[in-house]
Amino acid sequence: MAAGKPHTGLTVLAGPTAVGKGTVSTYIRDNYPQVWLSVSATTRPPRPGEIDGVHYFFKTAEEFDRLTGEGELLEWAVVHGRNRYGTLRSTVDAAIAEGRSVLLEIDLQGARQVKAAVPDAQFVFLAPPSWDEMVRRLVGRGTETPQEQQARLETAKLELAAEPEFDHTIINDDVRRAADELVSLMGLTPNPR
Ligand code: 5GP
Repeated sequence: MAAGKPHTGLTVLAGPTAVGKGTVSTYIRDNYPQVWLSVSATTRPPRPGEIDGVHYFFKTAEEFDRLTGEGELLEWAVVHGRNRYGTLRSTVDAAIAEGRSVLLEIDLQGARQVKAAVPDAQFVFLAPPSWDEMVRRLVGRGTETPQEQQARLETAKLELAAEPEFDHTIINDDVRRAADELVSLMGLTPNPR
């Protein structure tokens, strides 16, 4: 396993839609308290079970406007053409200053903005085991209409093409294995099996 760039303190995890970034970051939240996982601001309404301040900071459109207007976001993007998501600059800066290992799980547009702002951060691409597996996951989720699924697959093709922009690629064949590889790249020790 390649050694990462732990000295930077900041690691960005991105990848195509439906690749399972959320599942990997949830696994890390639950199993790796030594990772400081950024809590994003979003205009998306909470899903059942989501807690404000834990999963996201849920914001109104006006509140989000204020965050962008006052430069409080390190990056932000409209994801899936619908809701806005962004990383709170002050909390991330404070965690880095404290020497924490900081992880951002964000979309590709956001990752590119972080690369422009913090070029020496570590950028990790989470890839599906195969194209077919990605289609299966996207369709199997059953939360989108066929038209939406088609649109997302088109987006996914473009997103897969971004892989060379990243320092490392992790194949999400198994959530636990992928999460362990990610924490290793962050310079931390994976939990014993
Ligand atoms: P969901 O609504 O399913 O929780 O997340 C949808 C997408 O938003 C995911 O691809 C996730 O990576 C992305 N996302 C979450 N937080 C942020 C953020 O702070 N910035 C950006 N650019 N994308 C985010």
